[in-house]
Amino acid sequence: MLLASGRNLDVIAQAQRLPGPRVEADPDRTAHAGLIAELADRVTEDRHPLEGVYELTAVALRDLAVEPDPRRATAWYLMAALELLGYGPQLQACATCDRQLPAAPAAFSAAAGGLLCDTCADPAWSRLSVAAIKVLRVMQAGDGRLYGRLKLEGDLLNEVEETLRHTLEHHLDRRLNSLRFLRQLRT
Ligand SMILES: [Zn+2]
Repeated sequence: MLLASGRNLDVIAQAQRLPGPRVEADPDRTAHAGLIAELADRVTEDRHPLEGVYELTAVALRDLAVEPDPRRATAWYLMAALELLGYGPQLQACATCDRQLPAAPAAFSAAAGGLLCDTCADPAWSRLSVAAIKVLRVMQAGDGRLYGRLKLEGDLLNEVEETLRHTLEHHLDRRLNSLRFLRQLRT
């Protein structure tokens, strides 16, 4: 994209589409692409370069075009974006008391910054399944090959998505319009 500097806003003088797979003619995928774009827009400020965001966004949009399940590709992007921004959740030890977590379901609190041990969590809070915790850890480790091999059924993916959504919305301090739209699309 070629930009001409303007007094307040820059003017797009020329734009060229890169070759490669693209998200097109699929409302679900387009809605996911909207989420990726909204997040990139939300975390960057005018004239303040943020290293890695462009590459991450470009790769996410390409993956979204080729990945059979768009939710999978988007979830991966959300975790990668959280890590890049320094908002990655604490998944190994309790986010409050730092005690090592046993291999058991655990409560998650975006406000506390991650998983909580049973002493720190309210007994009434719902618990993330062991499988969801494992998927989140694989994503956080950036192990794309292992992530690609994981079987993510509907309920498991829901847990993972909800955890990422709570974390994002906590740090961004407001809701993402595209997330709300995606949920409406599903119901
Ligand atoms: Zn604790």
